[in-house]
Amino acid sequence: AELYDRGLEKSRTSFGDRLNSFLAKFRRVDESFFDDLEETLIEADVGYDAAMRISDELRDEVKLKNAKNPKEVQSVIVEKLVEIYDESGNGESTEVHFAKDGPTVILFVGVNGVGKTTTIGKMAARYKKQGKKVLLAAADTFRAGATEQLDVWAKRDGVDIVVGKPQSDPAAVVFDGVKKAKEENYDILFIDTAGRLQNKVNLMNELEKMKRIITREIPEAPHEVLLVLDATTGQNALNQAKMFKDSTDVTGIVLTKLDGTARGGIVLAIRNELHVPVKFAGLGEQVGDLRAFDPNEFVYGLFK
Ligand code: GDP
Repeated sequence: AELYDRGLEKSRTSFGDRLNSFLAKFRRVDESFFDDLEETLIEADVGYDAAMRISDELRDEVKLKNAKNPKEVQSVIVEKLVEIYDESGNGESTEVHFAKDGPTVILFVGVNGVGKTTTIGKMAARYKKQGKKVLLAAADTFRAGATEQLDVWAKRDGVDIVVGKPQSDPAAVVFDGVKKAKEENYDILFIDTAGRLQNKVNLMNELEKMKRIITREIPEAPHEVLLVLDATTGQNALNQAKMFKDSTDVTGIVLTKLDGTARGGIVLAIRNELHVPVKFAGLGEQVGDLRAFDPNEFVYGLFK
């Protein structure tokens, strides 16, 4: 919770504070109140549909409860945000699915620069601390420095890593990683993949090829395909998410750089439009700056 306090400072100062000062400005809950509310929510990247819905439902609620006090209206807004998040998730959990026995394989996808490598580094530390035997596979053989960067994390975390030659076939690294994980009884294998922006057909083929190699070795794997998105890119992140979701079965989202954005509302837009749960939140560059995502904590955190 402390990390959320610190990490969400930017979202809070602009989303929460803006909303608070906006509420204080209004004496009456009238049409211009709702117009301003819609604008505030859209600017925070809540998404157009969600913003309209909150404002419509709020109109009814305000009438029903005869709410005039801005504080009363604020709590209704928070309730609506949580409600929209929860219901668009169809009740599925934000927990990571682990293998019943044998290694759990987690595939990380996303475009360059969103924070895939950093997230894997943070996550490896997290699970190692829980006593798990962790293996990394550096299957991003295209981006110069990607393997070295992951290797730095592996050393820092004290976990093992499988690497390939520069420009070599990423599928070979995936194969080596899965084989090693299985033969040497690792608990978790994290696979870093290349994030070249490419067309949907290529992306789909590449991801399917990797999944086939994994499934051949471990039939129920990959247990998770986590799409990493940069929260500071707003609608762009949403468009990337759509492309990846159309290309493969994304089981969860890691939303990074929430510490660097005033637009935490993107969490709701993602949930509302894609119905894929956000499983982790990145709140900084350090190893400890990763949180299992909790929608209630998140939404309430915005308005503290
Ligand atoms: P990749 O290309 O997807 O593997 O991205 P990287 O892991 O190399 O991350 C790109 C940059 O974003 C690096 O400078 C990271 O330190 C930074 N970064 C990653 N996650 C976060 C985060 O949650 N918050 C902040 N502020 N920076 C982050």
